Amino acid sequence: MSESPGVLRRGRGRHRRRKRVPLPAVVAAAVLVAGSTYAATSTDDPPECDARPPGGAGAAAAGGCAPRPAAGAPARRRPGGGHGAPDGTARRPAGVRPAPVAGVPDPDSGYDRERCGNTSGRVLLSLDDWPYDDPERAVRIGAQLQSQGVRAAFFLINKYASQYPRITTTLRRQGHWVGSHTWSHRQLTRLTDDELRDELRNGLPGNFLRPPYGDAGPRETEVAASLGQRVCNWTIDTYDWQQVGGAFRDADAIRATVREATPEEKTNGVILGHLFSHFPEALTGIIGDLREQGYPMCRNTGPVTEQVPYPLEC
Ligand SMILES: [Zn+2]
Repeated sequence: MSESPGVLRRGRGRHRRRKRVPLPAVVAAAVLVAGSTYAATSTDDPPECDARPPGGAGAAAAGGCAPRPAAGAPARRRPGGGHGAPDGTARRPAGVRPAPVAGVPDPDSGYDRERCGNTSGRVLLSLDDWPYDDPERAVRIGAQLQSQGVRAAFFLINKYASQYPRITTTLRRQGHWVGSHTWSHRQLTRLTDDELRDELRNGLPGNFLRPPYGDAGPRETEVAASLGQRVCNWTIDTYDWQQVGGAFRDADAIRATVREATPEEKTNGVILGHLFSHFPEALTGIIGDLREQGYPMCRNTGPVTEQVPYPLEC
């Protein structure tokens, strides 16, 4: 889950992936815009809003939880300052090279975490978090995509997914990759080494990791790699998590965001959406638009395992 004030949305047509905004500016903007209902930048975290009661951010805040920072917001694009190489790969101490793990590319290999190893020219849909009030929604979406010949990636929060193992099994049988979105969706860069390890270790088994908010620096990337997990972010944020007037963005707005994304964001691209939002309702429109624009979707070729191949087999 991810939230951010609308002001952080960057203009369309820009190459948003590489944009970097200094964190303090983002924090200031978030506080200014969101006012008293947002406390996402505090280091004293109130519980985050995993469950999404109707009523939006205000209701959530009233319930004592804090919205999380944005998955697609610039906050995850940490400016220089030792937060890794410009391409987002980790720098490791000289002489320390983790043993190669199948499906986990060496950080120096040119692996583009925002494309997740997608070099197919096709577009990969990804759906994050959990369908809180209707867990079976995940497999219904999976079935719909399967019937359209599309393979997607689901990144599930294991605190919930572990209670419904059949959902993960079904999604994989439907031909979708299912990756880890950690145990409980804490922002990894704020955790101690031990907490970080616990969050990653207790995530869904497999080698595909989407860090909450896309926020993973060199330390997080390195620890993930040591556990056999490779970071997979996105090129197109649909902002489906964003709330306007207490409601999530509607399906038409989500669809338009994808349609208007740049060719570079679409080719070998990865689209970020969520299981609790209106993103699933926008999927058929998104797939139709992209196909019409000449961007085929990642194909569904049948059941998959928990090991996601690198490069992706789309
Ligand atoms: Zn998330």
